[in-house]
Amino acid sequence: MTSERTQVAIIGAGPAGLLLGQLMHRHGIEAVILEARSREYVEARIRAGVLEQGTMEVLREAGVGERMEREGLVHRGIYLCFDHVLHHIPMTELTHGRSVMIYGQTEVVKDLIEARQKAGAPLLFECEDVTVEGLEHDEPVVRYRHGGAEHELRCDIVAGCDGFHGVCRPTIPEDALTVWERGYPYAWLGILADVPPSTDELIYAYSDRGFALHSMRSLTRSRLYVQVDPDEEIAEWPDDRIWSELHQRLASDGWELAEGPILEKGITPMRSFVAAPMRYRSLMLAGDAAHIVPPTGAKGLNLAVADVTVLADALIGHLTAGSDTGLDEYSDRCLTRVWRAQHFSWFMTTMLHLDHSDDTYGRQLQRSQLRYVTTSTAAATSLAENYVGLTLEQTAPAGATP
Ligand SMILES: Cc1cc2nc3c(=O)[nH]c(=O)nc-3n(C[C@H](O)[C@H](O)[C@H](O)COP(=O)(O)OP(=O)(O)OC[C@H]3O[C@@H](n4cnc5c(N)ncnc54)[C@H](O)[C@@H]3O)c2cc1C
Repeated sequence: MTSERTQVAIIGAGPAGLLLGQLMHRHGIEAVILEARSREYVEARIRAGVLEQGTMEVLREAGVGERMEREGLVHRGIYLCFDHVLHHIPMTELTHGRSVMIYGQTEVVKDLIEARQKAGAPLLFECEDVTVEGLEHDEPVVRYRHGGAEHELRCDIVAGCDGFHGVCRPTIPEDALTVWERGYPYAWLGILADVPPSTDELIYAYSDRGFALHSMRSLTRSRLYVQVDPDEEIAEWPDDRIWSELHQRLASDGWELAEGPILEKGITPMRSFVAAPMRYRSLMLAGDAAHIVPPTGAKGLNLAVADVTVLADALIGHLTAGSDTGLDEYSDRCLTRVWRAQHFSWFMTTMLHLDHSDDTYGRQLQRSQLRYVTTSTAAATSLAENYVGLTLEQTAPAGATP
């Protein structure tokens, strides 16, 4: 058994854990990142791809924005498609110049891993049986197995950045957490296709066959999704069937969808979930470990980055100036923003997806909402400012000093 000490033990090398490690390193704070999976697995895990303006700024300031600036695609709007017509929401025009960047989560993760390795800062992959103990004492301990040996890591703070299925949140006694949850009767079947996008900006399509999304990862790779049932088997979806659904659901006058080889496909269930508070003694939860949203609002990765930005400030205050104010306010500061994103993600999801009930009243409401956001500047502005991302100041708890 080896025993070591660090200031911050970070569990999980997703966007939250890696970015926190980078911000700690830049402020001279020691941290060790422990990740259950291999580097190859983490770098290949295809997930989000839309970065809010605020996320781009944080990555730039953290010194990991160089490749994103070079290869990312700036988008200034989105399309909503219904009744075979594309309607443009000019987000930049409606939000005083704000925009989003298309740059895959896989690329963000690769950039952060490379930065950490260049800095020579500890990042351990393939850690097994990670446990968090001693939260009731001043010095919590993280135990894990790595390279066949048992290790213990004593620290000041544990950052639980280990995603929805991680070990940190379950470490918190049940009566110390409140959980809010909503399931949805649909899932997304996503493909990555080796074909240039057929659109300059994302298309969110409402159709009688269900929702579809045309997204992208670069100028040569398209990412497309169709709504499916949550219990659908991927084996029931050969490539031809996927393309056929995409053509039908995305169809609009004068527009053609280009097909290409499918490189990857998978089905993602949808859930909304929040656990609060995001702090238990010296354990701080960040990102998917504390909350998840359905992907329709493109918020999951951006929320993880926003949490970590607040957490980094709190840790710097605690570890360099002995101030606990940031740690005490961390959960409330994050949660007001989390709930705004929860609402927006629910709003986009319920506006665009079909359930299998014969709820014709509900469908009329969806169509009315779609007509409203595509004809009213006020409604379009509300959608646009949520999509490009509200700032932490805009979502500060009532009465808080930004
Ligand atoms: C399939 C899928 C598709 C998605 N698509 C989109 C999308 O299109 N748009 C969008 O905005 N969001 C999307 N999301 C959500 C977005 O990817 C997440 O919100 C984001 O990854 C959150 O980052 P995170 O660092 O908090 O968590 P994660 O990225 O989940 O990282 C957690 C890390 O902790 C590690 N870990 C877990 N348990 C342990 C343990 N016991 N010990 C050590 N390490 C551990 C995991 O291996 C992982 O590397 C998607 C999520 C999924 C699952």
